[in-house]
Amino acid sequence: MNLVELTPGTYHLQGGSNIGLSVQDDRALLIDAGLDGDTAKRALRVIDDLGVTLEAVFITHAHADHFGGAYLLQERVTGVRLYAPALEAGMMEHPLIEPLYLFSGASPIRELRGKFTLAEPCRVDQVIDKPGPLAIGPFEVDVVPLPGHAPRQIGVGVGDVLFCADALFPAKTLDKHQVIFCVDLDEALETLERLPGLPYAHFAPGHGPAYRAGDEIARICAANRTRLTEIRALVHEALATLRRMPRRMPRETSALVAAVSDHYGLHLKTATAYFLTRTTILAALSSLERKGEVETLVRGNRLYWQRVDSQA
Ligand SMILES: [Zn+2]
Repeated sequence: MNLVELTPGTYHLQGGSNIGLSVQDDRALLIDAGLDGDTAKRALRVIDDLGVTLEAVFITHAHADHFGGAYLLQERVTGVRLYAPALEAGMMEHPLIEPLYLFSGASPIRELRGKFTLAEPCRVDQVIDKPGPLAIGPFEVDVVPLPGHAPRQIGVGVGDVLFCADALFPAKTLDKHQVIFCVDLDEALETLERLPGLPYAHFAPGHGPAYRAGDEIARICAANRTRLTEIRALVHEALATLRRMPRRMPRETSALVAAVSDHYGLHLKTATAYFLTRTTILAALSSLERKGEVETLVRGNRLYWQRVDSQA
């Protein structure tokens, strides 16, 4: 875990999933808790080394790699308070919901019950559903809604630093995974558009390095937006054939997952990778459906997606 001090007393603990840390009056506030107990222990060691006490943990969204370590913090530190966004809080108390939604609501297969998609449950002390200033012990934080990647994801502003969760992914992730995870593509785009204009000097995401205000954050947000709009366009294109005239070509969801993955040269190797990719494709489809561009068609006991604009 790489400890980066962004502003005096505010740190970005960079690892597989990053953790934010702010220190004030001998107290510590963590933003997210890492993947598992081991990650949380490493964060506690950093807090110990600084000679301060953990006051509270704010979880930005209910993905196992961000709150998987929260249970251990509650076990180890008496009186620590856990804050989480509405809806996300319910998933943290009932972590089965994450693999459950990835598996269309049915009892999830064994692979989806690993620690990357099924975390240990934790107890949320305060559910946050209002943007704006919030006092947590000696900390004055700002609650900044950043929905899209997760339904009610929240960014936490501490002084000049915005811990912006998974609202954006670093260039490395864009190159490796290509189809970045999102549940609501329209909200994700709106969040990415708004983010660079927010009044912070540093933007510290859940994965990868922190970005400075201005060009740095604008550039990475633009790259994420370009990718999401491109994925949506690829889905739309895959629903037409250009033989003679643009024609409808109804396709099943699995064919669209394959079309987009093929475009990016991806080789999905696990069921988990498939289900994560499928979620983003479904988010693109619901965005297109909301705009009146695609609709479902059930025929021969199959569900197809088809364009609304051009006639077959
Ligand atoms: Zn996430």
